[in-house]
Amino acid sequence: MEKARANHIDIPKIFYSDATGGYLERCIGCDLELCSGDTDYLIEKAFKSYQGLESYSTIFEYAMCLTCVDRMHQTLSEESRANISSYFQKHAKFPNWVASGQADNDINQQLSCCILTAEKAHEIPEFQIYGHCRGKELIVSGYPFMISGKAMDMLVELISDQTLDELQNFTDQLVGGPSEFADILKLGPRLIF
Ligand SMILES: [Zn+2]
Repeated sequence: MEKARANHIDIPKIFYSDATGGYLERCIGCDLELCSGDTDYLIEKAFKSYQGLESYSTIFEYAMCLTCVDRMHQTLSEESRANISSYFQKHAKFPNWVASGQADNDINQQLSCCILTAEKAHEIPEFQIYGHCRGKELIVSGYPFMISGKAMDMLVELISDQTLDELQNFTDQLVGGPSEFADILKLGPRLIF
């Protein structure tokens, strides 16, 4: 069995499904079972915030295996990908992970500030969080992070209209008809990093 490493922690509650109260179990793209396996996957959750991480409601939540994430990234044009990556390089300030042994507190600390705009979770109406998981563990390295609604709008503006159309086609095929993901997409184009 793999030895527990310092940057692997049990998935904190904030990354649980609000719909079920448990783990997000399956890839929204290919329905692969995630939480009982050793596949790497990303979680995106969007919140409406009342008092930051103290009081919020979930707008949407999903998990996606890295194979589906790669396929989604491939639908972005080279130019769009380059724009996003240079924006991240210029603006992203990833917090230093300080493990105190109180994982939920540490995670809230990590997610309390937008990595692109430095806005604080309790001062903004909407934000999204991203985490990298494997099985029932969250891997801390770059992830997890928080992006404010405002920063997300700026990122979407870096994507060309043509790429937005392709992203839409891709996700239409991915979900193959009405699904939870189709509903999420009605809220705007999704970007998972
Ligand atoms: Zn998948």
